Amino acid sequence: MARHRGTYKPENPVPYELGRSRIQNFVNCPACFYLDRVKGIPIPSLYGWPLNSATDVLLKKDFDAYRQRQEPHPFLLKKGLGHLIPLQHEDFQRWTMALQLGLNTVHEQTNLKVGGGLDDVWLNTKTDQIHVVDYKSTSSGKEGNVISLDDRPYIKIQIEFYQWVLKQNGFDVSPTGYVLYVDGDRFTPDGMLGEDDATMRFKVSLLDFEGNTDWVEPVLFEIREMLDTQTCPKHPPGCQHGQYLEKASKVR
Ligand code: SF4
Repeated sequence: MARHRGTYKPENPVPYELGRSRIQNFVNCPACFYLDRVKGIPIPSLYGWPLNSATDVLLKKDFDAYRQRQEPHPFLLKKGLGHLIPLQHEDFQRWTMALQLGLNTVHEQTNLKVGGGLDDVWLNTKTDQIHVVDYKSTSSGKEGNVISLDDRPYIKIQIEFYQWVLKQNGFDVSPTGYVLYVDGDRFTPDGMLGEDDATMRFKVSLLDFEGNTDWVEPVLFEIREMLDTQTCPKHPPGCQHGQYLEKASKVR
């Protein structure tokens, strides 16, 4: 059966696919979501983030090696978290494929197929629960900056969403989510260039928080309602993009 994705087609009975970032768009701005998914006017895309995606690939390799051995990564051992082992599951590699909506569930009441591609899942050998893990990278512009999730609510939303999808797939998911942050150190006294290559050092932080997935299902119902009514929600007046567009449209 052909997938129902891209611009929403009301006459198509196949569950409509929404990836995690679309759901996040809706949470950020329902009007944006409407323009993109219902009217086919996508948000202009920024350039890719190849350095960030490179750190994701490398971290995945690190943890895949320990997934094979079913041992904790030394980084976690040193933090006293030797009970967290990269999950080995026959579907795990598929769950990491964002474009294919590798990890997904069909929410019957709304006929939405939602999901995405996660970074990692760790098994807690003390509780037998699984933890959703996200890898993130940045480079702090302030020396001594402490990375926190308090000013990054979108990361919590991302992890909570995957916690919910895994629960729908029947897994016993811990509310504790982990974020492994690598922070490119621009304050080291050395530069980065050697004779043949260059090396950048990263500080590493492991952040955890208690997720709450209660918001996910109500948001799916709100999305369903919007798709059915085909009504564009109001643009919030404080939106900087909206103010920019309004000013730009007045320039002759
Ligand atoms: S301009 Fe602002 S309010 Fe309007 S759709 Fe875009 S983000 Fe949303």
